[in-house]
Formats: sequence, structure tokens, C-alpha cells
Amino acid sequence: MIFENVRRLLEELPPGVTLVAAAKGRSPEEILEAVEAGVEVIGENYVQEAEAAFAVVGRRVKWHMIGHLQRNKAKRAVELFDLIETVDSIELAAELEKRCARLGRTMPILIEINSGREPQKAGVLPEEAEGLIRGIARFEHLRVQGLMTMGPRFGDPEGARPYFRETRRLFDHLRALAIPNVEMRYLSMGMSNTYRVAIEEGANIVRIGTKIFEGGPKGDR
Ligand SMILES: *Cc1c(COP(=O)(O)O)cnc(C)c1O
Repeated sequence: MIFENVRRLLEELPPGVTLVAAAKGRSPEEILEAVEAGVEVIGENYVQEAEAAFAVVGRRVKWHMIGHLQRNKAKRAVELFDLIETVDSIELAAELEKRCARLGRTMPILIEINSGREPQKAGVLPEEAEGLIRGIARFEHLRVQGLMTMGPRFGDPEGARPYFRETRRLFDHLRALAIPNVEMRYLSMGMSNTYRVAIEEGANIVRIGTKIFEGGPKGDR
């Protein structure tokens, strides 16, 4: 099932759109099946879960952090991940900078935008993104490469469209500013129920969990 789900998605996605398999709560075996079907990027929400999956799958794929990253997990995160999609504060960025400097590596990051302006949600408010990015641009070991957003949850995928559109507008605005050390290249938006709308609104990374992993591994049926 996972294998077929991935195949169907990869056929459907237009060229230039990267599929991130959102793997929270999935076993290393399930993730492996997705990889065997052609998934090239795994998205993890928790450092600890990523460690377990990484031990099985390794560096044959890229690893994206897509969950809220706690500062005390920054050290392990910069060792594991190829891209951190969820930077939303200068404090977190400063911690990542320190850890990357010690390792002598450079970490590509996305800025998470709270496009729904929901108080309980992670992400920086759209109007505060530019200031945050200008601050992070001074860090030698971080490279801002774009934006990520979740958007509010709706039953109808069309409900997400205005939030994706606003994030795309912000993305274009920030790109036009041509801030040194900042490259607006990736726009990560859209999940199982909203990825089609997100792609129409300009996403080039989609993070899909349910639509890949529902049905379970082959052994289960
Ligand atoms: C779980 C998750 C997804 C995928 O959600 P689905 O609805 O299962 O496709 C995408 N992005 C983030 C940040 C997630 O936590």
C-alpha cells in the first residue's frame, strides 16, 4: 500500500515539486517501504524519532526537520538533518549557529511562517519574517533558503488557499529584497488534503504523511 501510494503521488506531482514523506509515528520499516518506492526526502517532527529511522534508513535519503525544534535538541538536529524547515526565532537560530560552527558545517534552513496568525501555533508572523531573516542572515553557518507554512486546518482544502497565497506573496517579496546570504528557493506548503492547492499557489515542497502511510506496510494486508 505504501509503495503504491508513493508511486501514485510521484506520478502526479509536477516536475520541480519535491515530495517530503512526513513520517511522524511511522516505523522505520514503513519509512523504508516509502524510500524503496522512490521517496527521496523524509520529514521528521521529533529528533528522537528521526534517530530511530535514521539508524535504519541512513543517508540514502535527505532528512528534513518539519516539527517544532526545541533548543536543547539543536545539537543532535544539526548532526542529523539536511534541512531544518521550522526556524521561527532568533534564539533558535543562534543556538543552531553555535552548534553548526562547532561542527564546521553550514545548515540550510527555512523560516516557518504562522500564516494563520494562530496564537498557539509555531512560526513567525508574516510581518515579522523580514526582520527575523535579516537577523539570521548575519549568521555565518546558516543559509536561509525559503519559507515553510502549515496554515490553519479546514475540512475543505480551499480554505487553506488564502494562507498559501499570502505566504507565496511574502516569499516573492523577500526574494525581491535580495538580502545577502538569503536565497528564496524553497516554498514548503501543503499536506495530504491540501497539496494540490498548495502547488497551484506556488509550493515546490509538499509534506505528505497520511496519503503515503495510510493502509500500512505490505505485511499488514
Ligand atoms: C504531519 C505533518 C504533515 C503531514 O500531514 P498529513 O495530513 O498526514 O499529510 C506535514 N507537515 C507537518 C509539519 C506535519 O507535522
